[in-house]
Amino acid sequence: MIEEKGKIWLNGALVDHGDAKIHVLTHGLHYGTGVFEGMRCYRTADGNSAIFRLQDHMQRLIDSGRIYFMDLGFSRQQLEQAAIETVKANGMDECYIRPIAFYGYGKMGVNPMPNKVSVAIAVWKWDEYIKGSGEEKGARLMVSSWARLDPRTMPMHAKATANYANSALARVEAIKAGFDEAIMLNPSGMVVEASAENIFIVEKDGSLATPPTSSGALAGITRESVITIARENGIPCEERNISRDELYVADEVFLTGTAAEIKPVGEIDNRTIGRDGGRPGRVTKQLKALFDAVVHGKDGKFSKKWLAPVS
Ligand code: PMP
Repeated sequence: MIEEKGKIWLNGALVDHGDAKIHVLTHGLHYGTGVFEGMRCYRTADGNSAIFRLQDHMQRLIDSGRIYFMDLGFSRQQLEQAAIETVKANGMDECYIRPIAFYGYGKMGVNPMPNKVSVAIAVWKWDEYIKGSGEEKGARLMVSSWARLDPRTMPMHAKATANYANSALARVEAIKAGFDEAIMLNPSGMVVEASAENIFIVEKDGSLATPPTSSGALAGITRESVITIARENGIPCEERNISRDELYVADEVFLTGTAAEIKPVGEIDNRTIGRDGGRPGRVTKQLKALFDAVVHGKDGKFSKKWLAPVS
């Protein structure tokens, strides 16, 4: 649960948590005309905190907004600074950060354009996003009966609130069926992503494969980080279409996302993944350790490039 205290940044000012309110006739609430981000702030090796890939997340927010004709009214640099200020104001050394921009209150009707855009940034503690996945066993996933939105239906390069009604249906279906998370296929039947994470498989030769963003998958920032870190460490990654049954016979499967970080998958549709009873595999564990080192400021190359200090 979110603790109802601290500050939220709203349209240029920090306000008390309880005062960050919007009208019930907000356009984004009725028609899903909002875009958002999720970032993480980590405590790093030098004792300070830093936000992982702050610039890239804020650029994606702006790009998502551009797809929906949204003028956020703040530059990327201003939004970056606002995120840093929000973390500081809440005195958190590690947290999840949620920027959101949405068409506000003004004129009802499907056309959002007459409404002013509001921008907010909130932070909270978010430790374990996907349950059931630990060192011992990976997460249990099922393929959803809901198809992921087709890029001809919704622009999937936008991290838009509207896309998450589709995600929510899939995740609820999975949880009600006793699984930890849902995998979604596109209308052509190819694997896209999980309800809020990208998906990777480890092939028999130890290389990685992940669906291309043209499949409808979000251009995840953790996804891109993992591909980069893997290649740097001699692990190739191919972006290609993956079929449902390829998941079942992959050596390893893992999910990536800001909230979930790197999550090993132990079971899909009641089939155990890999040859070790669904326990996290060698490549997944290696990438997880490399990623953890990067986000905690312990990597010589990527920490400096990807971490924005909060102080
Ligand atoms: N796909 C979806 C649908 C998501 O919501 C997310 C989380 N933002 C991801 C993938 C992973 O993206 P990222 O690594 O940028 O958090």
